[in-house]
Amino acid sequence: MSDETFTPHGKHLIAGEWVAGDATFRSEPASGEAFDYAVGTPDVIDRAAKAAEDAFWTYGYTTREERAAFLEAIADEIEARGPQITWIGTSESGLPAARLEGERGRTTGQLRLFASHIRKGDYLDRRHDEALPDRQPLPRPDLRMIQRPIGPVAVFGASNFPLAFSTAGGDTAAALAAGCPVIVKGHSAHPGTGEIVAEAIHVAIQKTGMPKGVFSLVQGGKRDVGQALVQHPLIKAVGFTGSLAGGRALFDLCAQRPEPIPFFGELGSVNPMFVLPAAAKARGAEIGKGWAGSLTMGAGQFCTNPGIAVIPKGAEGDAVVSAAKAALEGVGPQVMLTDGIADAYRKGKERFDGRNAVHPVHATEQEGRNASPNLYETDADAYLQDHALGEEVFGPLGLVVRVSGPDEMVSLAKGFEGQLTTTLHMDAGDADLARRLLPILERKAGRILANGFPTGVEVADAMVHGGPYPASTNFGATSVGTLSIRRFLRPVCYQNIPEGVLPDDIA
Ligand code: NAP
Repeated sequence: MSDETFTPHGKHLIAGEWVAGDATFRSEPASGEAFDYAVGTPDVIDRAAKAAEDAFWTYGYTTREERAAFLEAIADEIEARGPQITWIGTSESGLPAARLEGERGRTTGQLRLFASHIRKGDYLDRRHDEALPDRQPLPRPDLRMIQRPIGPVAVFGASNFPLAFSTAGGDTAAALAAGCPVIVKGHSAHPGTGEIVAEAIHVAIQKTGMPKGVFSLVQGGKRDVGQALVQHPLIKAVGFTGSLAGGRALFDLCAQRPEPIPFFGELGSVNPMFVLPAAAKARGAEIGKGWAGSLTMGAGQFCTNPGIAVIPKGAEGDAVVSAAKAALEGVGPQVMLTDGIADAYRKGKERFDGRNAVHPVHATEQEGRNASPNLYETDADAYLQDHALGEEVFGPLGLVVRVSGPDEMVSLAKGFEGQLTTTLHMDAGDADLARRLLPILERKAGRILANGFPTGVEVADAMVHGGPYPASTNFGATSVGTLSIRRFLRPVCYQNIPEGVLPDDIA
């Protein structure tokens, strides 16, 4: 074993203690050695939730500076374990080392961004209506409002971002910044990556003197562990990144609780891309080639993967499609995150193969855990009549929908379900059509781009990564960027509460 590797012990981290399980599951890495990990149980969840609630009475009332220092300590500890994180992350996920390294930078960057965000204090959204004792016919009381942390938060990460949307990812950073203890349900696709990142948080807790229950990691292995977590009465909200099926099942459980709680599910999306006529004419081949690159990046395993392109019929649109086809022909098989995801991709492709109104442009055979790109074509009528064509196929599969003119493009835009993103490829000559489309697209997606590709989500103040269902279960929220902290806060109004009794943050 070198400094760049480690042997996972396979335990849960419960309130500062590494805890073994009665049963274990074996990891299924894309390459390298498999290890055994404790199976999460409802009992372990109960221990973690009680410790999180206890910790809230301290952690929820720490100063913003104390929490900022804690977030920065987590970032430092992650960096200190960089080589080991990359080693286990590449083995478990099959993602290349450069991707894991980039994602690690994004993860530590997010933690530090939240540290500076809470130091500024704007997120508290402080409001004050001063008392009007002489107002007629009734006096007005003194009203002050700030955002307060809500209590213990459950976090579920996704397989495709083992760092940035996982153990110490955006949801965990936002909840900890808000003042909420976190219980992470480890993803069974990357339990070793989860363990070493949890170790980084564990050490940061010790170094900054935070209460031990502020963070727990419960490994997965069985579905009932996640279900027990979202149903635990001490959990006050859930941050989830993953599939529509998994997210919907857990969302329904949250709604059925005696005390329903918010479930912030960031789910899948097909991210429609509209190629407007003047843009197609001016640079169709460039757009087609760029689309193929975005579609196959990371084996197409991005929630922002642009799976559908709406393209005009005729020679200009043909240029987009043939450039995309040519570029895809040069992309070989890529390893998928898990056997299950590779299998789901194969089944998704078969859904397209079985439809008369859908024609293959570039069709490939799938083998084992590898996926090769596929491109299909249909028209607007067929698309609008077949709901299944709008469902996400997680992987490098694209669908071209050909339209006969601007009106059909507008009808198609109206027919899309909620999306994380939509994209307009447009030139100056397309401005009128873009103005018609924009009000429709605003109702469909959390982010609208012009002349770019949606893969690659900037972590920033103005970012919105969310959208109407089924892109997410809560279209008023974002899971990326500083605004995501609002999910774990609740406005409280203090009426006539004297100075000195009010929370410190109100000043
Ligand atoms: P997933 O299979 O839904 O898994 C996510 C987590 O939920 C895992 O911990 C999983 O447990 C758990 N889970 C799933 N179904 C469950 C159920 N019925 N009961 C209890 N727990 C359940 O998703 P994934 O394959 O990891 O991620 C790929 C998906 O995530 C794609 O659809 C992608 O588009 C989406 N995604 C969305 C975003 C976004 O920001 N919107 C970002 C990245 C990815 P196990 O560990 O037991 O599997």
